[in-house]
Parts: sequence; C-alpha cells; structure tokens
Amino acid sequence: MNCFEPRSPSVIPIELKNGARVKANDVAPQGVYRPNYNILTPNMRSPEYVQMSTAAALTLGIMSGKMYRCECTRCLNLLLTYPEGCRANCAYCGLARHREAERDYADRNFIRVDWPAVPLDMTIDIVARDGESTPFHRMCISMITHPRSDEDTVTVLKKWTARIDPGTLPVSILASPTTMARDDVKRLNELGADISTVALDAATPEIFERTRGKGVQSPHSWKKYWEILMDAREIFGPQKFGAHLIVGMGETEHDVLQLVQKLVDLGGHSHMFCFFPEKGSLMDHVPATPRDQWRRVQLARYLIDYRAVRFESMKFDGSGRVFDYGIPESELEEVVAKGVAFRTSGCPGKFADDVSACDRPYGDSPPSNIASYPFQPNRTDLRKIRRQLKI
Ligand code: SF4
Repeated sequence: MNCFEPRSPSVIPIELKNGARVKANDVAPQGVYRPNYNILTPNMRSPEYVQMSTAAALTLGIMSGKMYRCECTRCLNLLLTYPEGCRANCAYCGLARHREAERDYADRNFIRVDWPAVPLDMTIDIVARDGESTPFHRMCISMITHPRSDEDTVTVLKKWTARIDPGTLPVSILASPTTMARDDVKRLNELGADISTVALDAATPEIFERTRGKGVQSPHSWKKYWEILMDAREIFGPQKFGAHLIVGMGETEHDVLQLVQKLVDLGGHSHMFCFFPEKGSLMDHVPATPRDQWRRVQLARYLIDYRAVRFESMKFDGSGRVFDYGIPESELEEVVAKGVAFRTSGCPGKFADDVSACDRPYGDSPPSNIASYPFQPNRTDLRKIRRQLKI
C-alpha cells in the first residue's frame, strides 16, 4: 500500500450529520467563542460569525497570549463557519466532513491550530478603529465547501469594504471552486477583492483524486479547480491569482516544480505548504515532509517565482529530486543567505513583493522544527536551513 494512502472515512451516524448536534442544542452564541471540546458549541453561522486563526485573534487583541518569536501575524484570515461545516472530505484537512462524529465544526483544529469564532462586526470594528495603524497587511476570506459559501463571501466582502478601504488593506479570496461559477469570481473582483487563489493542494491529478476527490468521498475535481483558477487568471489578471500547493503528499520534486513553473508561465504564483499530519485527519498517520525535500522545493520555487530561473534549467535525479538549481553557486548562495525563500509563502504584504502577508505562524510545523518561517530567519536559523539543504 502507498504510504501516502489516506485512511477510509468511517460511517457517520445520521444523528451526527450536518451539524445536527449543534443545531439541536441551539445554544445562542455570546461574543467570541474559543474552541472548547468540553462545552456545548454555540450555533454560529456566517456571515454573522467567522473563524480566525489563533494568531489573528492574538493580533486583534481578542485573545491573550504570545507566539514563539512572532509579535503578530500580518494577514487576517477569515474562515466562513457553519454548524454543518465544510461538506468536503479532504484527507489531510482538519475541517473535513468525516470528523462530524468526533468534533463539532467550530472545535476542529485546522493547520495545527484552533480557530476561535468571532462576530464579523466585532472584527470589522477593531480593524476600522485601528485605521492605518493596523498591524495587518491583508485580509483573506477563506471559503469552505458549503451551499451558502458564495453568497456569504459576498456579504462579508461588502460589509468589510463598506468600512475598510481595500486600497489600504487589500483583500484576498481563497476560493472554493466546487460551488463556484465564473460569475462568482467576477462578482468578487468587482466588489474590490485584490487577489484570488485556489487551494489546488495536490500537485498531480492522481494525488488530487486520492486525497480530495472520489478516493475519500469528497466532491472536488481537478478539472473544476483548474476552471476556476483560469477564470481568476482572466478576471483578476497577472500576479493577482495563484494556487496553494502542499509538498509531501507523494508527488516528486519534479512534479511540484513543473507545476510551479506552469503557474508562473500563466502569470500567477504558487503558495507552498509543507505537509504536516493534522491530528484527526485521514492522513494523520503519514509522516511530515522530510526537511531536506521541503527546503529544496522551497528554494527552487522561490527561484522560479522571483528570480526568473526556469524549471527546465534545473536538474533532477532518478527519483525526481533537484540536485542542480540551474544558477551559479555564488548566486544560489546569495539567495540562501537572504533567507526570504524559506519564509511562509502567500499573497504579498507591504514589506516586499516576495514577502508574504500571510505568515501562518506554525501552520505547517511545530516551532521546534520550523518548515515555513513566519519571520526573517536569523543566522542560527540559516545554519540549520543549510544543514537541511545539505549545503
Ligand atoms: S475544501 Fe478546504 S476546508 Fe474543506 S475539507 Fe477540503 S481542504 Fe478542508
């Protein structure tokens, strides 16, 4: 058996399907809800409520605490929320539908952290009040697969732009292609969204099918994801669209970097995530991506995306591993020393084009063995990175 094969989703008792437990208890929400498995989850629903990462809640000041070596996050990710949750079943994702029996949607861990649920109006009030002094460089609405997702994304975007100028604080959309049509992409663009991305996640159609298609009783299709990605390309334009890719789900380095080049040739960007076995997901038995593999892909992707190095000039061994990045050693050394290639990748913030606003602190690794650095790596970090790269 392929060691990247997801577990099979178990059968969910009917009384636990579709958020039935939360809807039956119908507890009225009282302000911010912090995920807590020991109390009844309130009945919260977008657009009144959104979820946000723990890092965003700390930055907004609605939760107290500190993050290791980060004073804040620069991207406010707003995740739509419903008692029914995401209706897809992606094998690596903590939000997937197969967890219905185990955990209410608002209590599920996602990219390793808890996602508090917060009233949208409260969130907008805080960011509007902070004005130009907001620590955020970007806001991102993360859609999920739900019949209300398209309409509610529009409502969240309208409410947001009515109070906060998207020219000052740009908005990205993490689109959910399965429920979308081209007109939905167009509408979000007309309403002021700056960048639209699609979480392709898998680097090949086979891995896509196995991890988020029929292989796990999930509704997504590679074809539909590409359709919406190409709609975003036409509607949002060059440098304003992109795809999320997860490295380490059974693809080769050659596979993923070929796709990175394809996205650049189309005029877009790739946003990379290092696979981490999310607890409770159908792939929680799969080992995290070896650091040497991840670092090589991070470095090569950075060269393709920001240094105009072509995939075709790189060399790969018989297992599809990069061993030559296609540029002189001195140039490679300069890029490694700069460190930006090893930071979290995503939509840009206000510091530089190649520095992502979306820093997702510890979203793809524990702080003890960082995959994507949510800050500028220092000399000690770079020594470790070089060891991992075997440079
Ligand atoms: S569609 Fe997105 S949120 Fe839903 S299960 Fe798949 S990866 Fe998770």
